[in-house]
Amino acid sequence: MHSHHSHSIDYVAHGVDSLEDIVARAVKMQFKLYCLTEHMPRLDPKYLYPEEITGKSDADLKALQEKFRGFLEHASEIKGRGYATKFIIGTEVEGCDTRHIAYAKELMKQNSGVLQFCIGSMHHVNGVPIDFDQREWLRALEFAGNNLKRLVIDYFEQQFVMISELRPLVVGHFDLFRLYCSKEVFIDSTSGQKVEHTHPAAVCAAEVSFIDLWPEIKMLALRNIKLIASYGGLIEINTSGLRKKLRDPYPGREFAMLAKSVEGTRFVLSDDAHGVAHVGVCYNQALYYIDSVIQLDRLHFIEDAGGVLSVNSLSVEDLKRQPFWDSYNAVLQEDSR
Ligand SMILES: [Zn+2]
Ligand SMILES: [Zn+2]
Repeated sequence: MHSHHSHSIDYVAHGVDSLEDIVARAVKMQFKLYCLTEHMPRLDPKYLYPEEITGKSDADLKALQEKFRGFLEHASEIKGRGYATKFIIGTEVEGCDTRHIAYAKELMKQNSGVLQFCIGSMHHVNGVPIDFDQREWLRALEFAGNNLKRLVIDYFEQQFVMISELRPLVVGHFDLFRLYCSKEVFIDSTSGQKVEHTHPAAVCAAEVSFIDLWPEIKMLALRNIKLIASYGGLIEINTSGLRKKLRDPYPGREFAMLAKSVEGTRFVLSDDAHGVAHVGVCYNQALYYIDSVIQLDRLHFIEDAGGVLSVNSLSVEDLKRQPFWDSYNAVLQEDSR
C-alpha cells in the first residue's frame, strides 16, 4: 500500500503529530511506500495562515524557510534508515501565483539531490485560502463576486498555469474547492451567484454538480486532466476529503469519473496525513470508492530504484488481496480498544 502525500507538526503549523510518530505508524501498518511531502515555504505574508502570524511577517516567512530546511534534513535521515517501508521525499508546492510557481521550480532545482518529486496543489484562489476554514472560504467566494461558478473557474485557470509550468508528478486534491461547499450556502444553479435559500433556483453548495450545471467548468477541468495525462502526471485520490467528512475523497466522483474518461489518466492513493491518526485514514472507504464507485481496474504508485523514480501499477483485485490490510486493520483495532 502507498501514500504519496503527508505532513507533520514539526514542519507545518496545522500539523498534529511529529514526523517520527507518523513514520513509525506508516512502518507499523506496513505501508510499502510512504511519501514525505512538506509544504514549500511561502514568500509573501499575504499567504500566511492566521496560526502562522505573530505580527512580524519577515520573521514568520523566515521561520517557514527554516522549517523547510529542517524537513529536508530530517526526511533524508529517515529515508536512510532502511525501513521495510520505502520513504520518498517530495514537496507540496503552492500554485497560488506566478512568483510561487517560479520559486517552486527553483526549489526543486536547488534541492534536486533530496527532493524527488512535487505535488502540485492549489490552496488559494485569488490570494484567499479555500481550505483553512468556512470563514476564509466565504471570503474567497466574496473575492469571486460571491459567485461559486466564478470561484471554481478561477481555481481551474490558476491550476492550469501551475500544472503547465511545473508539470508536477502528482496533482494534489484536484477539486479542493469542494471542502467548504457548505449546506448553509445557497447558489443560483444557473448563474452560480450566492442567493437566499428561498430563491427559486437555489441549490445548496454542498450538492452542486459542477459538471452537470456548468459546461464551462467541465471544459476547464477536462483541459487540466488532459494536460496531466499528456506528460504522465498522476492524480491522487486523497482521503483527507473523507477524513473531513466529505462524501468522497478528492477528487469527488464527478471529477474522478471525468478524469477516468480521459485516456492516460493514472490515479495514485494518498492520505495527506498531518497526524498519526491520519496515516492510512479512511483507506477502507477509499478501496470501496476505487472499486465500486468510480470502478477503476488499476491503481498506480511511484517506485524508487536507486533515486530514479518510475510509475508502476497494480490491479484493484491485487490491491484488495494485499497483506497490508491485515496489519492495517490490526492497528486500527488496537486503537479502538
Ligand atoms: Zn494540500
Ligand atoms: Zn497536503
